[in-house]
Amino acid sequence: MNLYELPIHNLHQKRLSGEVTTVEIVQSILKRLENVEEKLHSFITLSEDRHLDLAEKIDHKISQKELIHSLEGMPIAIKDIFSTKGIRTTCASRFLENYVPPFESTATEKLKEAGSLLVGKTNMDEFAMGSSTENSAFGVTRNPWNVDRVPGGSSGGSASAVSSGQSLAALGTDTGGSIRQPASFTGIVGLKPTYGRVSRWGMVAFASSFDQAGPMTRDVEDAAILLQTIAGYDSRDATSLEVDIPDYSQFLNQSIKGMKIGVIKELDLSSCDSEVVRIFQHNIEVLKDAGAEIVEISMPNISDAVATYYVIAPCEASSNLGRYDGVRYGQRAKEISGLLDMYEKSRDEGFGKEVKMRILIGTFALSAGYYDAYYLKAQKVQNLIRSQYHQAFQAVDAIATPVAPTAAYKIGEMINDPLKMYLGDAFTIPANLAGIPGISVPGGFTNNNLPVGFQLLTSHLEEGKLLKIAHCFQQSLQLTKPKMSI
Ligand code: GLN
Repeated sequence: MNLYELPIHNLHQKRLSGEVTTVEIVQSILKRLENVEEKLHSFITLSEDRHLDLAEKIDHKISQKELIHSLEGMPIAIKDIFSTKGIRTTCASRFLENYVPPFESTATEKLKEAGSLLVGKTNMDEFAMGSSTENSAFGVTRNPWNVDRVPGGSSGGSASAVSSGQSLAALGTDTGGSIRQPASFTGIVGLKPTYGRVSRWGMVAFASSFDQAGPMTRDVEDAAILLQTIAGYDSRDATSLEVDIPDYSQFLNQSIKGMKIGVIKELDLSSCDSEVVRIFQHNIEVLKDAGAEIVEISMPNISDAVATYYVIAPCEASSNLGRYDGVRYGQRAKEISGLLDMYEKSRDEGFGKEVKMRILIGTFALSAGYYDAYYLKAQKVQNLIRSQYHQAFQAVDAIATPVAPTAAYKIGEMINDPLKMYLGDAFTIPANLAGIPGISVPGGFTNNNLPVGFQLLTSHLEEGKLLKIAHCFQQSLQLTKPKMSI
């Protein structure tokens, strides 16, 4: 096995026992990057630093028996939505093509403090709006399992980078599924924490009441390590939660005997590909065999989640994106005939099609005559969905669903049918509406060798329990991955 294919926790053990060095780990990633990045385009900006001097220093520390963090010297990729001080942060938009933030986001700062190394800033859908990474102003990213297919989105670059071994882990963001769905499409683990668990400070805002940062990793153990590192209260984010962070490693290697896992009665699996249903049903059997009890639960409004999200998220986006006016951030149109013209032209040139559509929808839904009919109504349905989860979690420890109705689809297949693309978010969006944590764990492969994820959800701040079930599932499934073609 190549070093770039191994999870961080495993590599860390290997370097402590002298089997490998940090320099070798970093070299393995750099070599892989050289070989596949041109085919995949996972990154918008690559780090100029190859980090080999630092890796050498870390190896010296190890030889001196100094205690080091498991992330120290580990190459990690960052979605280009996180502000990185002195490093271009585009959010995959022309508007921010040359934007270099003067500050560092809290989540990336914490990863830096732990000693991880930045491989680069990954491609994504513009302003995180999309499910396929085809909405980027900087070209499409390809899925390493089949380069004609999308890696999912909006954190598709992060998913493609981790899955292909161009980084050992990555940071993504999830507003309506953008960590979990690309994780499912590329055969990695993606964890969306509870809203407020990880600081949003320094993340470019899309829909602020849903946006949440989280890890995208090779396995559940690594997701626990990254979450441990980035979680925590931050006074600079008013919605960040001032609560204790448990030691997530203690939830690994535990039995789930007797735990209750809910399956939602009203969940419409008829929209799913038959292979996705087959894999989901098998995954449920795996949990059963591990000793969990499967309980049917009812969430009558679950099918309203997509419509609800696609009102609220554009409303928040239309407000958040008001700051891109050609004055304060990013690019300004050149040929202008006055202030209003400057605003209009800058926004017309700076934003892509999908972003413009969301701004129009959001502005419309918030306008005086329609506010009650759309925005207020959507908030009421959001509350219903929230309370239905609350009710469900009185009876079960976790809820299991597929992550997406399909495996990765072909590039170009969905892009002209936004509604169909939106419907693909039906299983991920409910967790964002409720603010609860969710994880996508590799659940199987289709006959075409495309990965399919399995989603688990728990109640607020129960990431520990989520990791416990996810880890037990991963260990019980013992999925053998087919050989990647790239
Ligand atoms: N696909 C969803 C959207 O387009 C979710 C995106 C996200 O989670 N950032 O809005």
